[in-house]
Amino acid sequence: MSILYGRMGQHEKALEILVYKFGDINGKALEYCIDHSKGKSRNIRQDIYGKLLKVYLEPIDGSKPLFEEALLLLNNPNVDINPRTALQLLPDEWSVKKLGLFLQRSLRKHNHYYRTTAIEHSLAKWEHIRAKNQIINEDCKRTFITENKECQLCKQEIGDSAFVRYPNEVIIHMKCMKNKNICPVTGIWFGGTS
Ligand SMILES: [Zn+2]
Repeated sequence: MSILYGRMGQHEKALEILVYKFGDINGKALEYCIDHSKGKSRNIRQDIYGKLLKVYLEPIDGSKPLFEEALLLLNNPNVDINPRTALQLLPDEWSVKKLGLFLQRSLRKHNHYYRTTAIEHSLAKWEHIRAKNQIINEDCKRTFITENKECQLCKQEIGDSAFVRYPNEVIIHMKCMKNKNICPVTGIWFGGTS
């Protein structure tokens, strides 16, 4: 039966049968994934292993989720699971420590992806918040950044980008800032200890 589903490309069904009907004897489900992902693209490999993880964690027929198996699968160095898929499926109460190995490995594998998207995104967000806080903390006067307000350094619109405002009212993009203590337009030093 599972062979039939496998041929039809219905991996989730096939894996459900292997895991819950046949009790996942001798790692048959993992073997199935290995067989069906051999020589396939990374997306397909990740998809198949992700399906097995789903089958372990979200059984359909009221069986108990197989947490141990799921953890073993995640921490298996030969298994490639998209961390996004994994994080959606994993129980919230699982600690980062428990997932440490998996997360470390994923970060290494997905290094490029993370560097270019997720990390950059959160850094930008963080800088944006920090820049805003800085302005609020250092100066209680309101600054209205209108649509056409431009950065006094690169002369590009500020729009809703992060910006920095120096005490002498000079406003520039966060990204154009080299030193928060020196106004890049006038060269005035605004002190600070660092
Ligand atoms: Zn600028």
